[in-house]
Amino acid sequence: MAEKKVSNAEIASILFEIADLLELKGVAFKPRAYHSAAQTIESLGEDITEIAGRGELEEISGVGESIAEKIRTVIEKGNLPYLDRLREDMPEGVRELMELEGIGPKKALFLHTKLGVSGIEDLEAAAKKEKVRELEGFGETSEQNIIDAIAVWRERHERFLLGYILHDAEEIERKLREHDAVKKVCLAGSIRRRRETVGDVDILVSTGDPEAVSKFFCSLPEARRVVMEGPKRSSIVVGENLHVDLRVIDGEQFGAALQYFTGSRAHNIKLRKIALDHDWKLSEYGLVAREGGDIVAREHEEEIYEALGLAFIPPELRENRGEIEAADEGTLPDLIGYGEMRGDLHAHTRWSDGSHTVKEMAEAARDRGWEYLIISDHSAGLAIAHGLSGDEIRKQANEIEKVNNKIEDITVLHGIEANIDKDGTIDVKKSVLRDLDFVVGSVHSAFKMTEKEMTERVVTAIHHEHLDMIGHPTGRLIQKREPHALDLDTVFEEAASAHVLLEINAFPTRFDLSDVNCRRARDAGVMLGISTDAHDTDHLRFLDLGVAVARRGWLEAGTVINTRSLEDLRAWLEK
Ligand SMILES: [Zn+2]
Ligand SMILES: [Zn+2]
Repeated sequence: MAEKKVSNAEIASILFEIADLLELKGVAFKPRAYHSAAQTIESLGEDITEIAGRGELEEISGVGESIAEKIRTVIEKGNLPYLDRLREDMPEGVRELMELEGIGPKKALFLHTKLGVSGIEDLEAAAKKEKVRELEGFGETSEQNIIDAIAVWRERHERFLLGYILHDAEEIERKLREHDAVKKVCLAGSIRRRRETVGDVDILVSTGDPEAVSKFFCSLPEARRVVMEGPKRSSIVVGENLHVDLRVIDGEQFGAALQYFTGSRAHNIKLRKIALDHDWKLSEYGLVAREGGDIVAREHEEEIYEALGLAFIPPELRENRGEIEAADEGTLPDLIGYGEMRGDLHAHTRWSDGSHTVKEMAEAARDRGWEYLIISDHSAGLAIAHGLSGDEIRKQANEIEKVNNKIEDITVLHGIEANIDKDGTIDVKKSVLRDLDFVVGSVHSAFKMTEKEMTERVVTAIHHEHLDMIGHPTGRLIQKREPHALDLDTVFEEAASAHVLLEINAFPTRFDLSDVNCRRARDAGVMLGISTDAHDTDHLRFLDLGVAVARRGWLEAGTVINTRSLEDLRAWLEK
């Protein structure tokens, strides 16, 4: 069988793991042998599969008969049952600890047994409670090293794009809600705040039957792996290594726990200070009097904010960016709601690089209850996306008209996503643009310009007589591409005065404008539009992600154009 070729690095990493696991079991000598064989193979100049092909594995220094046999198994079968057995013998939590920089098998086992920690999150809690420094052979420095290593590990492993995991997390939440023994359930943490990236997912439940609920949770079809199962806390891995943690909370303390686990840290620190001013203590268990321990509030989150003299702060705002002061003064924004969108401003079809027809997109949009959908396929300049020529744009107009005649309860508008060339010109003729309902201009090439050049480019486009919206204004791709150099203050000012929309592109990799930039745009008097940039009917659900960005950006419905009816949208565009 010809499988994919195994690399030297993969073989080395398997042997390193065997060495670690054997050492953890207290096996003598063997770990050293595996370790040194792994080191040799890691730095081999030749492909190990070639050496194996010649039958010369045992000529590699440090590779004896038994190790050679295992390497052959990996090359031939793609896995190694011997390693699987070793792994199964180890407590899961110990293996997770070994993923931390500076934590070998011995240290992992030591921490596991001495502190009772199983997993990195437990260890982090122990380190933050200063329990690690008390252990023999550890001190303040090594405790801090562990905290730092955990931060690095998080950065490396555990940031998922909100848009790609929210749906699954909400499905799990929904299934829990439907379970007979579940009284309350809510997502907490950064996913509840709708941060653009999420580390792991926290779900809180209250229940009269923790065992049954934990068992149910751990046997969900989504659970690819169970990290731990217990009456207080369970943890599963879903999809691409996303950890979903379930915490069972006493129903009376649910509000306090939800407030605490939703964060952010900075927000909570500030709240705790306000609590202290009242001589109260705020924790995951409740808001209580420091003396006597009388309970002030704990069952509902709202009661906690109220007791602290604050208006209720929506989770999306809890970042300590002025929301606590605003809640105190009664000046929190009346945030745009998830149900307020009337249509989508930017979606693609098969005419360019989308995967569905105009009709299919229109039906999907109608099924979402929207009043309108603007189809804005790419223009010809973007060859890679099969952009449309002037002729094709006119043909597309006919198709859109036909769809509008056929389908009721939704209006399809004819737009385009044209390219903004280096000099700021739009790559579609005015005679063609004039007939369109909506023109999006986007930068899709030549990203590397100076800030001055890029700003001039975008500002020139803003002043094009037919342009309605700048698409994904900064061009950033989360975790992949930095925003291009752009003087946003100038862009905001020009867009506001030229009556041009700036996009909140809700595609999960974009979120562009970002939450913080939305708020700046709003302060500059810019009108924003939320769009999915859908390339598939399924992508239309991203619109709510755009609303989440807008909420995190303190926006009210009035500053988002597509909360308006079709009639009002048209009136705004005509101005
Ligand atoms: Zn685009
Ligand atoms: Zn697009």
